[in-house]
Amino acid sequence: MHTLPEVVAKLSRAAGVPVSTDFSMARECSFRLGGNARYFCTPLTAEALRDCIEVCRRLSLAYIVIGGGANLVFRDDGFDGVVLSTKGLNHFSIVSPGRVQVGAGLDNADLTAYTLQYALTGFEWASGLPGTVGGGIFMNAKCYGASFADIVLTVTALTSAEGLTTKSKADCGFTYKNSVFQQSGEIIVSAMLGLTPGQTEAIAGRTKEVLQDRMDKGQFLFPSAGCVFKNDYHCGIPAGSLIETAGLKGRQIGGVRVFEQHANFLVNTGRGRTQDILDLMALIQDEVFKKHGVRLEPEIKIVP
Ligand SMILES: Cc1cc2nc3c(=O)[nH]c(=O)nc-3n(C[C@H](O)[C@H](O)[C@H](O)COP(=O)(O)OP(=O)(O)OC[C@H]3O[C@@H](n4cnc5c(N)ncnc54)[C@H](O)[C@@H]3O)c2cc1C
Repeated sequence: MHTLPEVVAKLSRAAGVPVSTDFSMARECSFRLGGNARYFCTPLTAEALRDCIEVCRRLSLAYIVIGGGANLVFRDDGFDGVVLSTKGLNHFSIVSPGRVQVGAGLDNADLTAYTLQYALTGFEWASGLPGTVGGGIFMNAKCYGASFADIVLTVTALTSAEGLTTKSKADCGFTYKNSVFQQSGEIIVSAMLGLTPGQTEAIAGRTKEVLQDRMDKGQFLFPSAGCVFKNDYHCGIPAGSLIETAGLKGRQIGGVRVFEQHANFLVNTGRGRTQDILDLMALIQDEVFKKHGVRLEPEIKIVP
């Protein structure tokens, strides 16, 4: 058993940056709620991230790697382990026409800004999508008719057996809101994306249109993590419609409410706790099952 100062010393040596303790994860998660992490740090290189994971393994510490925190919540009693943020891995470079190399922690908004700066087309659909490129690949985030699977050429990931390895798109196992990384535990550190030279005006126009649509739908009015449940493609009706027709719009538990403008969004009214989300999700699953016979599968990740 290691003392807290010993762990902090080992981790910060590996990370090459200071390590925070008892760190509020509400600050890192778009839902703006959840407990504290025992240790939190943001390594600046893939090697430093690998060394931090090595320390966690050696000291038998639980760890999780997060990006923008836009699709996850930490339980109210916190995480007794190490949270490693990828936000320091945020490089961007144009390797050749049509090939862009990015760090896993690059914020989608920053990538959008680069596409405008360098007139690259192929990422307009992700305008206003909260989170990082790594989180988007992990989730195979999807919106406005496209998903990360459509732009990934290769992904470089940390594996426990081989260290850093580069996977082809075919090896990423992309399916609806899923990728091989959700099962393998590998950590995405960078990706090569297929974004091609285009017309600045057309790129800017579509980028603005998509962002405006999100704003018109009220997506940024309250803290949330976007859609809470996956769509069930066997049933063919979007999860939001199933929740709405089960009469659940506006239903509230504690400080978390089913959003009136989009029933698949749960929103934090300001006093929300993670337990409120879990209770509301259970209620929605029960009511939707009773009304429609469909068992909704969560899209958001609950930690631990
Ligand atoms: C207002 C709003 C609107 C949204 N709209 C959409 C939408 O239209 N479509 C959609 O698909 N999603 C949507 N989302 C959800 C969210 O934006 C996406 O799921 C996003 O891709 C999450 O990225 P992230 O970096 O925040 O991941 P995080 O929330 O940080 O992490 C999500 C999961 O990925 C894992 N992870 C993160 N980075 C890595 C990495 N580098 N290596 C390995 N594992 C990693 C984490 O451990 C966690 O399990 C929305 C969210 C909000 C708040």
